Amino acid sequence: MSLNRVTNKAMNISILVFGSDNFLAALPDQIRDATAFNVEVIANLNQAVSQIKITPPDVMLVQASCHGSMELCRWLIEQTKLSSIYCILLEDRPHLLADRIEYGWEWELEMTSSALQQGADAYIWQLTKVTDKYEVAAEFSASVDAKQLAGWHRLLLAQLTVGFRKAQKYRDLIRTNDLLSAIALADPLTELNNRRALEWDLPRQIQKARAKGNEMSLIILDVDFFKKVNDTHGHLVGDRLLQLLCNRIKHNLRFQDTPFRYGGEEFVIILGNTSSEEAIVVARRLNRIVCEQPFAINNNLTIDVTISLGTACLRADDDAQGTSLLHRADQFLLQAKASGRNRAIGCGEYLSQQPHLRVVSS
Ligand code: GH3
Ligand code: MG
Ligand code: MG
Repeated sequence: MSLNRVTNKAMNISILVFGSDNFLAALPDQIRDATAFNVEVIANLNQAVSQIKITPPDVMLVQASCHGSMELCRWLIEQTKLSSIYCILLEDRPHLLADRIEYGWEWELEMTSSALQQGADAYIWQLTKVTDKYEVAAEFSASVDAKQLAGWHRLLLAQLTVGFRKAQKYRDLIRTNDLLSAIALADPLTELNNRRALEWDLPRQIQKARAKGNEMSLIILDVDFFKKVNDTHGHLVGDRLLQLLCNRIKHNLRFQDTPFRYGGEEFVIILGNTSSEEAIVVARRLNRIVCEQPFAINNNLTIDVTISLGTACLRADDDAQGTSLLHRADQFLLQAKASGRNRAIGCGEYLSQQPHLRVVSS
């Protein structure tokens, strides 16, 4: 049997063999000599577990008689993040091989069901050579005839093909999932994260900041008189202006700052590891880089635009979703609008000007 049809599509497929060198030697040449996929052999349970955690294989071939094989299968079934691994258990425990011959097919079905319930995706009995009723040799290829061996190899390769197919499907699914997530969380005009992404990310950033005892702030900014841009130059120019504005802002952020398009011409920036004083500094810088230089829409048109910004710093009494934090920043934004636009107002600055409010906003 050829694995090419599957492996050609599924390059970089990896197999982890949990078993002895003898066991590996008995596997079909197509597995041992494969170049289209990686084969790694480990016979120690702890090593196998660490290896799987670091680089999960696509398929596992487990030698049942290898010490720790059942623990490995049971551990694997509990790992929800590793459910893509296809685990083939090869039964070569001598007493089970002997019992199988003695008790017949009903017992075999029982054992197979039990192995599948324990976490294996496939359960294959090792070929045996019966020399005597109680003396069963699971000596792999050396002890069985060529026809039997070829049939056994076919079964094993067929199971591997199932594993490869599953791995391929899983990878396709992950790719599609990544693509759909990117579409669902991105704003197509500005290519920034959208509001849904903010709603997903903000509670996580808050939780992370609290767990680490870090400060965290955010900025809400809104383009001033943006409606006038649309009314004067049309929506397409308005769109282009938003794109240019976002690019300029994006390129002036620090690595810990994450920008989102919150709504039409409103944006939120989460500032990781940032105090209220630092947030005002960042907001003022953004304010400056927007108003200092006009935006070149095309060769014949440049537009001057300004933004207003509000900042807020996470407090102990803020809710975990970030609603109160956002609301506070929004209040400062409204204040920036009301007091003349083209400015940044936030906790740190506002308080330093109005000390009687120091108690409410820290
Ligand atoms: P203010 O200084 O008070 O913020 O005034 P403004 O004109 O910016 O605010 P207003 O809320 O009155 O208008 C916002 C405008 O932004 C109206 C809306 O059509 C426009 N807008 C929202 N999203 C987009 C977009 O994706 N493209 C374009 N071209 N315009 C948009
Ligand atoms: Mg506006
Ligand atoms: Mg607005």
